[in-house]
Amino acid sequence: MSGLIPHTLKTYLTKKRIGDRIELLAGKLTDRYTGLEDETVFLCVLKGAFIFSADLVRNIPLNIPLEFCTARSYGDSMNSDGNVSLSLPPKRVLREKNVVILEDIIDTGCTLAVLKDKLKELGASRVEICSLLSKPSRRKAKVEIDYLGFEVPDLFFVGFGLDYAENYRNLDHLAVVIPSKKNS
Ligand code: 5GP
Ligand code: MG
Repeated sequence: MSGLIPHTLKTYLTKKRIGDRIELLAGKLTDRYTGLEDETVFLCVLKGAFIFSADLVRNIPLNIPLEFCTARSYGDSMNSDGNVSLSLPPKRVLREKNVVILEDIIDTGCTLAVLKDKLKELGASRVEICSLLSKPSRRKAKVEIDYLGFEVPDLFFVGFGLDYAENYRNLDHLAVVIPSKKNS
């Protein structure tokens, strides 16, 4: 784990609490998209949302395709700076579709604001956002979250797909990174 500041991890949400909440979100999405399967696409934002998306779609008994995109916001490993680079599925997959974005966490909102605009530009007929976490105190861009797992405070989270410089994505729960105090 070279390059990381000394830190410890503290559990914030257990596997059980996250699982229960995902079942609830999956139920809402099932109700919303039953009968609209042919005109709907789920879009997982890599890498952070891969575990959330996997658990969510396995709780939705509908035949809706799952696509992937990447969104990289530049900045250091704990802060993004609003410069977003996207890599999206082909236009034909998104055109005239209800696109449901599956995201791990909405922080400043910059990534989602850029992604949502781009999807509309590519011809999506409707874009909804489903995010596991949201940090409302950090918002810079206005984003409406249609399906939300948990509101969280302004701390740095890892686990359940979220990383700290590519570490900890595999944790089965959500934890907070606590920087160690310097002994000076
Ligand atoms: P935004 O553009 O909303 O500021 O940032 C969204 C992205 O920043 C998230 O998809 C995630 O990759 C990263 N991010 C924001 N807050 C956290 C956090 O607490 N932990 C981790 N691991 N990534 C975060
Ligand atoms: Mg993300």
